[in-house]
Amino acid sequence: MKKGKAVVVFSGGQDSTTCLLWALTQYEEVFTVTFDYGQRHIEEITCAEEIAHDLNVPFKVLDMTLINQLSANALTRSDIAVTDATDGKLPSTFVPGRNHLFLSFAAVYAQSIGARDIITGVCETDFSGYPDCRDVFVKALNVSINLAMDTSLQFQTPLMWLDKAQTWKLADDLGALEFVRTRTLTCYEGIRGDGCGTCPSCVLRQNGLTTYLEEKQGSVAK
Ligand SMILES: [Zn+2]
Repeated sequence: MKKGKAVVVFSGGQDSTTCLLWALTQYEEVFTVTFDYGQRHIEEITCAEEIAHDLNVPFKVLDMTLINQLSANALTRSDIAVTDATDGKLPSTFVPGRNHLFLSFAAVYAQSIGARDIITGVCETDFSGYPDCRDVFVKALNVSINLAMDTSLQFQTPLMWLDKAQTWKLADDLGALEFVRTRTLTCYEGIRGDGCGTCPSCVLRQNGLTTYLEEKQGSVAK
């Protein structure tokens, strides 16, 4: 039996789209919330909107451009290059506390529409050094949010312990491998589907897909 209402924190990328497809199998009513934080590629928001429209779920964009008043980084400033994490430093795509803010706003939105569950595609397995994507943080925030609003909201993190190959498997199990592969945008260069193929995000995504398809091939061959 499906549960009531849920809000999916949605960016139009592989992970959150997989979460959205998963949520549609679990809940009676699913809502999406997307954050406009002045992404380098406004294409990201268009992509998310089109997916939400095609899956027939409400789509809400919250203006979070104010975070640019706090920090400069590669995702929002076109003059800063996207670099990998090196020398123990965080990657240049990092906005400190971004996920913390997004989850907090998503929780207030969920509360306002009477949704109990908030689904986020954060993942500790592949986490690129973002401390607010870790399980311990999400659990701690969950407690704080409920204290803050005197509610019993629940963050759901279906991808928390999956690697990228397992996330592709989940999409495939949901009958949506091609949908996720062709429709989502994860590339830092703003190219949908398989993307530019060379940015850190594309490499992670492609390696996961290759691993999953090889494993699938292997298990079929047995
Ligand atoms: Zn790319």
